[in-house]
Amino acid sequence: MRTLQSPVTELPKIRPVEVAALKRLGIETVGDLLLNIPYGWESYGQPVLLRNAIDNHQVTVVGTLASVVRKQSRYKRMPLIEGSLKDDAGGTLKITWFKQPWIARDFHAGDRVAVAGKLRANYGYQMINPHLEKLEATGGPSRVGGEMPRYHLSGGITAKKIAFLVEHGLSLADDLPDVVPPGVRERHQLLGIGDAVRLGHRPNQPQDWDRAVSSMQFAELLVLQLALLVSGRRMATEPAQPVPYRQEVIDVFKKGLDFELTRAQRRATWDIYKDIQGEVPMNRLLNGDVGSGKTVVAAAAVAMTHAAGLQSVVMAPTEILARQHLHKFRSYLEESLPGLTVELLVSGLPAAERRRVVTAVASGHTALLVGTHALIEEAVEIAHLGLAVVDEQHRFGTRQRELLRSKGHGRPHFLAMTATPIPRSLALALYGDMRLSTLDELPPGRTPVVTVVLPPTARSEAEELIRREVGAGRQAFVICPLIEESEKLEVKAATAEYERLRTEVFPDLRVALVHGKLKEKDAVMRAFAAGEHDILVATAVVEVGVDIPNATVMLIEGAERFGLAQLHQFRGRVGRGAVASHCILLSEEPGESSLERLELIAREHDGFKLAMEDMRQRGMGEMMGARQHGMSDLAMRGLLQPELLNLARQEAERLFDEDPDLAAHPILRASVLARLEQTSVS
Ligand code: ADP
Ligand code: MG
Repeated sequence: MRTLQSPVTELPKIRPVEVAALKRLGIETVGDLLLNIPYGWESYGQPVLLRNAIDNHQVTVVGTLASVVRKQSRYKRMPLIEGSLKDDAGGTLKITWFKQPWIARDFHAGDRVAVAGKLRANYGYQMINPHLEKLEATGGPSRVGGEMPRYHLSGGITAKKIAFLVEHGLSLADDLPDVVPPGVRERHQLLGIGDAVRLGHRPNQPQDWDRAVSSMQFAELLVLQLALLVSGRRMATEPAQPVPYRQEVIDVFKKGLDFELTRAQRRATWDIYKDIQGEVPMNRLLNGDVGSGKTVVAAAAVAMTHAAGLQSVVMAPTEILARQHLHKFRSYLEESLPGLTVELLVSGLPAAERRRVVTAVASGHTALLVGTHALIEEAVEIAHLGLAVVDEQHRFGTRQRELLRSKGHGRPHFLAMTATPIPRSLALALYGDMRLSTLDELPPGRTPVVTVVLPPTARSEAEELIRREVGAGRQAFVICPLIEESEKLEVKAATAEYERLRTEVFPDLRVALVHGKLKEKDAVMRAFAAGEHDILVATAVVEVGVDIPNATVMLIEGAERFGLAQLHQFRGRVGRGAVASHCILLSEEPGESSLERLELIAREHDGFKLAMEDMRQRGMGEMMGARQHGMSDLAMRGLLQPELLNLARQEAERLFDEDPDLAAHPILRASVLARLEQTSVS
């Protein structure tokens, strides 16, 4: 018997690559699949001749296949198929299908077909992963050309296949638990979950789908808002130690910096100072774009906390980042504020060093302890903890943050920093229990990074650019593709690329390699920073890595494998100096949806706008780590609708006031508790 909990592998005709693709989309069970209703519909309309078709539009083209050839992609040896189609006026369309090897089995030169997809018209006509349908000798297309559901895709699966799988699960829709209490549902004329899922996938008319979407969004927003209310109540009533404001501290701190704080930084610093003066523990989110200078704001908070005789702790998600913080905080603080010492705690410190640090911290002597997860895993006691800071907060779960906050006696003030910017309206909805400071300007003197998306065939042009820049005394990063399944393969690919660049392409330049498994990665980074290497070949480890103002090229191989936020981070690694910098996104297997993402990155440089465009155009909250927040794409889009959000908020407050433990609504209660477990609602 198939149930909602059955893995998708139990559905008919599903292949391992499709299972993997669904998993990347967060879909593992039949129930997950059902809840993933289309985010839109696509109408291809009547077939057109290529010469009449408009570039960058969705079109249907009918013609005869001239060739169908199997090939392999460069890195992953992934199967791909190249076809060409001649339309009835003699126009030629070049087509690439990725990861759909069955096409070569079922389709052959001479077949009459219809294809539907986005047309690109530079250097001839091309389509990537279009829908494909075989036609009778004379007839026109049936399904292709009609309305097709748009599902979020990940390499390896098509919308058509998802629609097929959904058909086989849809009879289970009524078994889905409905989190919305019936009274609430009736008051707002919302669909029950079973109807919403059925009509969402298979609307009889367009309004059906709209109603299904709002009903499902409402349900998730209700859970989120309740989770915020519950966590707000849970927040210990225990007081924090007040940190009095002292003008001379900030004066000395500012004098010690070799730059002026931006207006946004001053505002955020002041927000924090106001909060920590009180006994109510601060709970604030510092939200800013990559490179907006969040660290120095945290340092200002540390300085004031130290002046009050209290200690601070900063937790970062990776060792490289923690070490970078150590250097930054030291440079911001140690010279101008004598007596303020900063120490590092990461796993794998030599035992003696670890003992020294732990003792210094426990004695209250260390003003700031910087580290990774090791901070919460190890038996570290911070005697007078006044301030706890978490960088890149979405990488930590609620429990980890709680543990950090419990390292001292009593409750510290708490500051969380984002890795990527979150548009204000969304941040308020997502983090309703925190106060928000936004760094909405970058330090002066930054030059926008010229960003281009190139096909793998243009690699040599990219390498030319590197040569030119190095010739002018600059440095370059080359980032190797992410290989999720295996770090070993990733290291191997990076090593191979390093060898190729070092021996074949740039034998006359100084090329270095860094990856996660390398013991001396710190030393390599330092040498690169000191200008001892021209080109640094790296795996994703530099994502959060060091500041190298002299680096002006960021070349990213297999760019489509990386998330939007990660790409934006990479790009933030260059463009720190005054000269123009370049970010080159080489795509290896650009499916339609990944090209859209890359083009988005190339077009939009402002992180806040990028996050918003990601939501508007693609209906995803990828930039904001929606999935890590346990939010579906659907619900993220719901956050953009103030009316729906307000409604959910009102109903959440009403339910919470009446019955704070939600005893009368067990399904809702279970969802709220599950959300509190997994998300970064603090
Ligand atoms: P992020 O917000 O991404 O964490 P960082 O705190 O790492 O950014 O700052 C990025 C770089 O900008 C650092 O080298 C930092 O010293 C520098 N910086 C921060 N604030 C300013 C400023 N007001 N003027 C000039 N440079 C600054
Ligand atoms: Mg940072």
